[in-house]
Amino acid sequence: MEVVLQNLTKKFPGRDKKKHEDVIAVNDFNFTIPDGKLIGLLGPSGCGKSTTLNLISGLQKPTAGKIFFGDDDVTDLPPENRGIGLVFQNYALYPHLTVKQNILFPLQNLKGKDKLTKEEMLEKALAVAKLVQIDELMDRKPGELSGGQQQRVAIARALVKMPRVLLLDEPLSNLDARLRLQTREEIRRIQRETKITTIFVTHDQEEAMSISDLIVVMKDGVVHQIGKPQEVYDNPVNLFVAKFLGTPPINVFSGRVKDQELYIGEDAVLKVMGASDQEVYVGIRPEGFRLKEDGPLCCELRGVEVMGRDSSVISGNKASLNPAVRSIISADSRVNTAQKEVRFSLVPQKVFLFHKKTEKRIDFEAEEEQ
Ligand code: ADP
Ligand code: MG
Repeated sequence: MEVVLQNLTKKFPGRDKKKHEDVIAVNDFNFTIPDGKLIGLLGPSGCGKSTTLNLISGLQKPTAGKIFFGDDDVTDLPPENRGIGLVFQNYALYPHLTVKQNILFPLQNLKGKDKLTKEEMLEKALAVAKLVQIDELMDRKPGELSGGQQQRVAIARALVKMPRVLLLDEPLSNLDARLRLQTREEIRRIQRETKITTIFVTHDQEEAMSISDLIVVMKDGVVHQIGKPQEVYDNPVNLFVAKFLGTPPINVFSGRVKDQELYIGEDAVLKVMGASDQEVYVGIRPEGFRLKEDGPLCCELRGVEVMGRDSSVISGNKASLNPAVRSIISADSRVNTAQKEVRFSLVPQKVFLFHKKTEKRIDFEAEEEQ
């Protein structure tokens, strides 16, 4: 099912009684979510992710704009008539019901022509329990399950009516690290098998990057960028998106462009053809540094962390806006830790320039890597 968001906007009256300013939780969101894809809705806390999801589910009414499921205008439909499945962070299972009863619950409320026989209901519940691999646990109560198992039950309950759209709001946040990893792979598998259009809300960029077909990066109610995870990572439209994606995060420096040459401090670090003379923010991905004895960027060496395949060189630079410059190099390249300085050349594709005021990306052409 394709989901179309058209000028979708939600305002809340400001909580501060003196300033009557509205909070614009979702600001003119336009996007067509392709059929059968998993979309990661990503952004820091308070950026409007849950509100967007609540508008799509019908739990909240938009201030302006429209929502379509396929050709169906669902903007004024109540949640129960939209054909959605919802999963929240806190599972929200009925504690006094067994797993089976929890999964059966949405089916028991079907009326009229949708009404099912007991056998049909049981068959559907078992099929979906198998899909999320909890069919062995059908007679347990939620209190007798681990967090990961409870979240699987919640997913089974959301899927049992075969919704047109599956909406997940931070579904992994209550799980410990290992279960989080495992459950996110499960969600990906279930989504691939069922091909249900799915919107997955998270504040965790790694989570969104790892399972989404497309990510939507939001801040302060505004959509900043939509694209395939790798494309957004490789081509961030602004400094916010560049900083939000990637672990370790991108290194940001103040720099300037003069005569097609990029300077960080006194070091001329890269040819940047086509960029005009100006002060800029320079973003360099950790994997964008190459150790080079006569490399143009000079940093003060602080330490080396060996992490198996890679090493992380920690250094300092006066122009760095991060407390430390973090670069990732292959573990084979040795750094003499007795040295005070370390010198790098830069991988042009891993270097981004941003306008000092608007923080928008500035295009340039680089020479081949030396
Ligand atoms: P997220 O899920 O990304 O953390 P939310 O969608 O919950 O963000 O919230 C977006 C913004 O809208 C926040 O500033 C939040 O305080 C505000 N907000 C959310 N719900 C309400 C509400 N019911 N009343 C007033 N403000 C709200
Ligand atoms: Mg939220």
